[in-house]
Amino acid sequence: MQTTSLKFRQLASQALADETLRTALGDVERIMPVIRNSALDQLENPEAWFDRASASRDRTLAELDVYLEAFEQKVQQLGGHVHWAADGTEACEIIAGICETAGARTVTKSKSMVTEEIELNAFLESRDMTVVETDLGEYIIQLRGERPSHILAPALHVTLSEVAETFHRHHDLERAAPLREPTEMLLEARAVLRDRFLSADVGITGANFLVAETGGVVIVTNEGNADLTASLPDTHIVVTGIEKVVPTLEDAGLMLRLLARSAAGQRLSTYTTLIHGPRRAEDSSGPSNFHVVLLDNGRSDMLGTQLQEMLRCIRCSACINHCPVYTAVGGHAYGSVYSGPMGAVLTPGLAGLHAAAHLPNASTFCGRCEEVCPVRIPIPKMLRYWRDREFERRMTPRSVRYGLDWWTHMNASPRIYRSLLGIAARLLRGLSSRGWITRLPGPGRAWTRYRDMPTPAGQTFQHQWRRTRGRAGES
Ligand code: SF4
Repeated sequence: MQTTSLKFRQLASQALADETLRTALGDVERIMPVIRNSALDQLENPEAWFDRASASRDRTLAELDVYLEAFEQKVQQLGGHVHWAADGTEACEIIAGICETAGARTVTKSKSMVTEEIELNAFLESRDMTVVETDLGEYIIQLRGERPSHILAPALHVTLSEVAETFHRHHDLERAAPLREPTEMLLEARAVLRDRFLSADVGITGANFLVAETGGVVIVTNEGNADLTASLPDTHIVVTGIEKVVPTLEDAGLMLRLLARSAAGQRLSTYTTLIHGPRRAEDSSGPSNFHVVLLDNGRSDMLGTQLQEMLRCIRCSACINHCPVYTAVGGHAYGSVYSGPMGAVLTPGLAGLHAAAHLPNASTFCGRCEEVCPVRIPIPKMLRYWRDREFERRMTPRSVRYGLDWWTHMNASPRIYRSLLGIAARLLRGLSSRGWITRLPGPGRAWTRYRDMPTPAGQTFQHQWRRTRGRAGES
């Protein structure tokens, strides 16, 4: 898994200067929490649903091997094949092999973050196959040669005029007038993609859940593109992470209720499809060949560690939509497929801390990610875990390490602590004007560049406490 996460600071600065991006992200911040809350309010006691979902995910993770093997057996009984991939390269080789056996020239795909994680498109293209993304957002960014900037809305960063310009450049079509309206663009993309669907030799989808008791694969979309991808070509390949298995259909139902509400404020996604193996004799359509590729790629290393709870994630994106850092800088700044708070924990888990060391610091620790997570993942606790590892491995910048050493030393001596704090309180008061400090010197300058600070009391809390307690004793 390739990342540019080490450039987070630089990419975040560029993103902060991009006004168009800030407008798009402002909409996420404004709209997504409102629609999520109103959808969850329709559930009686949503917190109890979160508890049930989190307990169900924990039960599954505690016996992940058992449920995965049960799923494999069921798929085989249904006439499908299950492949186990230890890492991205192995997964790509397996998928390319299946495509080559099917004589594939054109491969259609529905949105799958796992295939982004393993960079499947580039791999298949290097084997002379044409890969066509069929989710509208993915299709737009594929034409633009970009990465997704959000796990649910991959083209969130692209404006309407940029979409029009992209279609004008890539679609070889005669038009009466240039594209302006979203519906016109949608219809054009749909017409182009219809041809691709019909000419595809292999369809590749992800999976939202795998049901161990039935061998079913659950896929949700709002466009129906996954259904066409899965059912029109003669070969269907499902690619997903090992953590996506759930024990029963009832568990899948529980997750689906929370997924659609947390993701897009819907009671249920527009299309929820359950696929059980290849076409049966009595079926009028569907693929003859059905394969499921189960990817590990670092996930099993997280089991039994302090990161295990991250594997509960159902990729709803609620934590991303509520994160003040994500809504300021967007997904590309994170330099990996997974962005926002979940990405800041997951990316170092999958790619290694050396490849993503800045991400656990991309947080204000406001705790909203944990609050909104429908499977109760304690994201701030995990970010602290990664920061500890970073400190232990001396990956933290020297200035921070020395600063923390100095802070520890100061806190170990009450006398030094009190006198330094007293000096700081007086100095800060001296810097204020009309009740506010608008400019701090030294490293404090970054803080006051974007915000003012109310004038402090000029005395420490302890000093004031001693003084008022003394007065209370006199009265
Ligand atoms: S961490 Fe929680 S809130 Fe974030 S995407 Fe995963 S399930 Fe959703």
